[in-house]
Amino acid sequence: MPSATELAAAVRAGTTTAAELVERHLAAIDAREGEIHAFNHVLTEAARERAARIDEQAARGDDPGPLAGITVALKDNMCTRGVPTTCSSRILEGWRPPYDATVVRTLHAAGAVVVGKTNLDEFAMGSSTENSAFGPTRNPHDTSRVPGGSSGGSAAAVAAGFAHFGLGSDTGGSIRQPAALCGVVGVKPTYGYVSRYGLIAFASSLDQIGPFTTSVHDAALVLDVIGGHDPLDSTSIPREHPRLVDSVGQGVEGLRIGRITDLPAGADPDVEARLEAAFDALTAQGATVVDVQVPAFTFGLTAYYLIAPAEASSNLARYDGVRYGLRVDAPDTNSMYSATREAGFGEEVKRRIMLGTYALSAGYYDAYYGKALKVRRLIHDDFERAYAHADVLLTPTSPSVAFPFGAKGDNPLAMYLCDTYTIPTNLAGHAGMTVPFGTGAEGLPVGVQVLAGTLREPTMFRVAAALERAMEGGGR
Ligand code: GLN
Repeated sequence: MPSATELAAAVRAGTTTAAELVERHLAAIDAREGEIHAFNHVLTEAARERAARIDEQAARGDDPGPLAGITVALKDNMCTRGVPTTCSSRILEGWRPPYDATVVRTLHAAGAVVVGKTNLDEFAMGSSTENSAFGPTRNPHDTSRVPGGSSGGSAAAVAAGFAHFGLGSDTGGSIRQPAALCGVVGVKPTYGYVSRYGLIAFASSLDQIGPFTTSVHDAALVLDVIGGHDPLDSTSIPREHPRLVDSVGQGVEGLRIGRITDLPAGADPDVEARLEAAFDALTAQGATVVDVQVPAFTFGLTAYYLIAPAEASSNLARYDGVRYGLRVDAPDTNSMYSATREAGFGEEVKRRIMLGTYALSAGYYDAYYGKALKVRRLIHDDFERAYAHADVLLTPTSPSVAFPFGAKGDNPLAMYLCDTYTIPTNLAGHAGMTVPFGTGAEGLPVGVQVLAGTLREPTMFRVAAALERAMEGGGR
């Protein structure tokens, strides 16, 4: 399949049309969306109109942009003006944002076409998309299994060929884990790399937007478009980022690839085997493997499940039936608040709000939230020490391949453990991405995770591209 880069070039040159690309994807959606349920809304007419406008631009001799005619499946927690944005929650049902998220504006300006808003675990809380209020998404590789989460809809949409690329948000692994389970590339950039303006907040100090693509080069292309400073997001990094597409072909000769010797155990043998194959593939291309330690890595999950719920309990306080979406009427204001929240939030969201409220409450703040912040600092510092010896670190992305529906449904802890290897990077604010690297049990996709320090995306992409090349060259 031609890459998004090639297709956009063809639209810009007039050798193909945006309309043709969009129709191809709308047809793919038509054929298989009933089975997959990647989308909360498919934007058929809006996509057609936008494609027509791009083709007019190209015909006039104007440049429609680096993503001309390229289709995108947008996670339904990013605001789209006038288009329902639900976070897969009943509490936002019917709400239409009055503005576009910065990433949406940037993508439109670059010529991309949004084909739909994708399903997610409610408010991005989960690892399987089973927590959506609108029913789960199915994994295109095996529809009896989950696509991962929380951005399962975007991952599945890209894996099923519904769009050239997807956008997701990653607070503790929600881009990387579903990308791994669906066999696509997924990137969680450095915190602050991409604007969060218009991304509905889950845990603001951890949330970051990133792409799902079928190739490392396409991921670089998308990040080159959406990355950069945004005055509307006070945590966005105020500097220009180097073009990542220039890094992709640079090779890994001389790079130091870190193996974390004290990584928490728990990955399945098939996943471990692919990680070993990844180390070998990079060595064969001229990189050196070095042993490093990140002792506090193992505490990531515990710290995250205090910090993320604490922030969520504050962020989700705004859904009270007054300004957004659902309102359940009651005789007085307080009962209206509780009736609305009782009806509007699902079980996992309520669990997080309770956890977070408890961790922040007077008398427990220091013991839980305060202590978790100290652990967060240790994790960051341990990573920094490791990055003094290694350019990137390699770990499994997910401990297992895609699991069957219901496998972890009634055990929140089992679900939380899906993010053991992804969460510490969010706490550190560093970069991470997953690359499909062959298959494991039942022939299902396995991803390898490449981690890098703050703004070390160029190096991370070099390594990811080398892994991709190894797979193209025969998988070993
Ligand atoms: N699965 C993790 C959670 O449930 C991470 C989610 C995410 O990154 N949004 O919180």
